[in-house]
Amino acid sequence: MKKRPSFPAQLEAPKPNTAPKTLLGATRIVTTPKPLTKVVGSGLQSPSGVGLDSSTVRLRMVQKLAEQGIDDELVLQAMSRVERHRFVDTALVNQAYEDTSLPIGLGQTISKPNVVARMIALLREAPGLQGGGLGRVLEIGTGCGYQAAVLAQVAKEVYSIERLRGLHDKARDNLRPLRLPNVHLIFGDGMLGYASGAPYSAIISAAGGEAMPQAWIDQLAVGGRIVAPLQTANGQQALIVVDKTAQGLQQQLLEAVHFVPLKSGID
Ligand code: SAH
Repeated sequence: MKKRPSFPAQLEAPKPNTAPKTLLGATRIVTTPKPLTKVVGSGLQSPSGVGLDSSTVRLRMVQKLAEQGIDDELVLQAMSRVERHRFVDTALVNQAYEDTSLPIGLGQTISKPNVVARMIALLREAPGLQGGGLGRVLEIGTGCGYQAAVLAQVAKEVYSIERLRGLHDKARDNLRPLRLPNVHLIFGDGMLGYASGAPYSAIISAAGGEAMPQAWIDQLAVGGRIVAPLQTANGQQALIVVDKTAQGLQQQLLEAVHFVPLKSGID
């Protein structure tokens, strides 16, 4: 059995002048995805123990995602780039790369890596994209900003909206050092969508409601896809995929999930 790298002892953020273009850089990925074998060990090296240790556990997380059936290499690459430990409280960093949801304050949670990867892979599979990649994406529920950072790796522009001021501020602080010019954080009620960025090629919700807000459908481009948790008849939640086609809407109900509730208004 492989020895677990020491963690979290070496996870302090690198000093600003040594951290610069860290693992994320500010680049957008617009190239064809590379095989995961090439991802491993490329672009993740850091001369410091910090980068090496966290990239090792992150790669293990990504390998597990691949074993669990996530086969979109661009998504796996994005998951290997974004340092999830930077988005959770210090006390939780040693769990940052476990496949588990974690509290992020104000009663909210960051989704399991598997769910983040699965939902983004579903967005990228939209038939309407015709393999062209994601353009503008709307995320409902910024939370700590982690998923927005992953989305930023695979989409041209990310508009992420959060209804809790405390989390909107936290996400801004978490994302600032990553310098992602294509992420736009909005404080507001995501049930109304965000008309200024519309039309979107994809909409992804990190909170589950009883029905899909009409604004999301209206703000979705033809050819675009929504992936969101939705309450089902038995009071549980399942992932729903909605494709907007020239002929109308097409829906698929997928696996059961557990997301925090979608709420209206701001706090
Ligand atoms: N994607 C997030 C997960 C956050 S949890 C991350 O990576 O951390 C879901 C978030 O949805 C919570 O922060 C909650 O406050 C937010 N939320 C719920 N209803 C909302 C609404 N109507 N508009 C915007 N955000 C909402």
